[in-house]
Amino acid sequence: MMKDHLEYVGRVVGDYRLLRWLGGGGFGNVYLAEDMRSSVQVAVKVLQIHLTKQEDWRSFINEARTMRLRHPHIVPLLDFGLDRHDTPFLVMEYAPQGTLRDRHPIGTRVPLAIAIKYASQMASALQYAHEAHLVHRDVKPENMLVRSDGTILLSDFGIATTVHTTHSRTNKGMLGTVPYVSPEQASGKPRAASDQYSLAIVLYEWISGRVPFEGAALDVAIQHATQLPPSLIAQVPDISSEVEDVLFKALAKDYKDRFPSTQAFLVTLQRAHTSAPFRSSAVIRAAKPTFKDVAPPPVKVQPSMNVALTAPRPVLQPEKTQSETAQVSCSSLDTRSQKLSAIPSPANSAFLSAVRKYSFSKTWRVLLVLLCGLVIVGGSYTYVTVKNIQRKAVAKEASNAYSSAVAQHGTMFGFDAAHTHTNSYERILDSDNVSQLQQVWRANVSMQHSDYSPAVARGVLYIGSLDGNLYALDAISGKEIWVASVNAGLASSPAIVNGTVYVGSLDGNLYAFDASTGKKDWIAPSGGIIYSSPTVANGIVYVGSWDNKLYAFDAITGEQKWVAPTAAHTEASPAVADGVVYLGSLDNKLYAFDAITGKQKWTATTGGDIDSSPAIANGIVYVGSWDNKLYAFDAMTGEQKWAASTGSIIYSSPAIDNGVVYIGSSDYKLYAFDARTGKQKWAVATNGGIDSSPLVANGVVYTGSLDHKLYAFDAITGDQKWTATTGDSINSSPIVANGMVYVGSRDDKLYAFSLPE
Ligand code: AMP
Repeated sequence: MMKDHLEYVGRVVGDYRLLRWLGGGGFGNVYLAEDMRSSVQVAVKVLQIHLTKQEDWRSFINEARTMRLRHPHIVPLLDFGLDRHDTPFLVMEYAPQGTLRDRHPIGTRVPLAIAIKYASQMASALQYAHEAHLVHRDVKPENMLVRSDGTILLSDFGIATTVHTTHSRTNKGMLGTVPYVSPEQASGKPRAASDQYSLAIVLYEWISGRVPFEGAALDVAIQHATQLPPSLIAQVPDISSEVEDVLFKALAKDYKDRFPSTQAFLVTLQRAHTSAPFRSSAVIRAAKPTFKDVAPPPVKVQPSMNVALTAPRPVLQPEKTQSETAQVSCSSLDTRSQKLSAIPSPANSAFLSAVRKYSFSKTWRVLLVLLCGLVIVGGSYTYVTVKNIQRKAVAKEASNAYSSAVAQHGTMFGFDAAHTHTNSYERILDSDNVSQLQQVWRANVSMQHSDYSPAVARGVLYIGSLDGNLYALDAISGKEIWVASVNAGLASSPAIVNGTVYVGSLDGNLYAFDASTGKKDWIAPSGGIIYSSPTVANGIVYVGSWDNKLYAFDAITGEQKWVAPTAAHTEASPAVADGVVYLGSLDNKLYAFDAITGKQKWTATTGGDIDSSPAIANGIVYVGSWDNKLYAFDAMTGEQKWAASTGSIIYSSPAIDNGVVYIGSSDYKLYAFDARTGKQKWAVATNGGIDSSPLVANGVVYTGSLDHKLYAFDAITGDQKWTATTGDSINSSPIVANGMVYVGSRDDKLYAFSLPE
């Protein structure tokens, strides 16, 4: 048994050198450690139990295996084992920002909107665990870790169960932390609803600054079993009775009186928070539309609108405007022209020798040389001007074509409903000039780990943010046009069709906003958190939800048309082509549904979870899988055409252009395969995993990498043409529209690049 936790600092456990004690007690101590093979920092939990009995040992291994649970809000288990003294240890991702208890010490309050954001992440993790028949049993702020990107991760999964199993004979299974423990768990019968109860206690504590029952352990356990929690409204008058009612239902003494699931609890809480009172959320800011026809009508900001602004919101700060860049380019053009005048050309030297031959007077000679210089300088100016005019004309034509395509079909994740990730209207950027791209602005948009992208329609860029805001920015200058707020984060790409912006939220709702003003048109509920990006085709919006279902809503009214089940969560975006909707699910399958009726047409199985959104071209549907492979299925029958291997998991979505399909893999590489045969054409390496879905435009493939960089490669040869560094990993997908490239980074910034003027 470990006596002093500090004794372990400096020791080696498995392949890990323990560097610093991070915390612990109870069943083990946690250390910051270095993986000696890769120098990566990890957190190692050394358990204070000895697995001397075979039964205990088996139990430990079984429980450690359950920590393979993979969920965006469960701390990833990286390794586990036994040290030289048979002490078990677990290796986790290191969360440098500590726990939510560190962030919000005992006695402090957390604004409701933020508390709900934390809780919704925890609820989705718990729901996932409950569906895997696991009960956490120790839900409390100390077990909620904060990743460097701000994501909340539920930790200590399975440990309580392991220890519970090994100690159950002596303490009848009463484990957990008394202030958060439900009556049934206190009596040794924990169930999924016990975690719901604990999460409600945590919310109660965040809102009011204190847990409902305090005192000595036994006294607290008795209060949990017998007493109603003190009124929240009496302590925090801002809280609506609807919110209190929802919390108190989750705190029911009898688990049967609580919500049927933790997810249902959170979805109801989010709704109560959203609707009571209903807030007018669109806030018009200094409007600077690019096209006249998107100028928003003047909107009076009513006093009630301020409510929507109470939650702190990052201010968008375009760092450098197009006009500033233009000035820089003009001065460099002057210099270039002067240099051109000094370059001897055949015409120039012939003229000078003629001058010499006819021995003009010195004054004449000076004048003639000056004249000669002027002709050449003037010529270079004319040449540059003509090129500029030509470029502008091509750009205008391409931008008109882009606008009319978007007006006709809309734009969304993957650019179109078939998710080809190809903007075939791009004319400004090409493989020759892409190397000149420069950053023109940068805006603060909380994107964290998300892999969604912005969309551009009629000169306006729309991007959802995990801060719960949908931003409309001038696509050229980055200036804010309007902001619309919802009550939970937006972790999907918006779709803009027919003047409406559709976006899914972590509060489980699909929202429709007027694209010009940000006014809310309608809200359509789903039964779970929405990470999936909506896809719009033929007047129907399709979106997947964490409740394992695909939803179809009328694009104009938001009325639900149909709901189709899959066997597991759907994070990816549905794709639509030729009257069929395709959607991947975490049950390893790709589903095809009739787009009008929702009737399932076929399913095709891959060897792993599908996070990748499918893409369709020429009757073939392509999708990546966790089994490292890119699959091609017949779009009508689901029959597998080919599967091409990459070196690691595929999280991203394919792009298809000109008979080639492009896909990024966690093995750091971007691949190009023949779309018909699956034969590899090329693969290029970056210095990080590629979670970002590639985009193709005018012979160039763009992709982000976890090495913080955005890359541009020649689509035919794979030659690297350009790269730009951002402040953190790029998980999201770049987009290209009208000569500009946009990408979001984990540094919570959206970057815009274009050619110098
Ligand atoms: P636990 O025994 O899991 O409650 O962990 C004890 C303390 O160690 C926590 O309260 C955290 O401060 C710290 N800790 C646990 N896991 C991690 C991790 N993965 N990364 C960083 N700190 C951690």
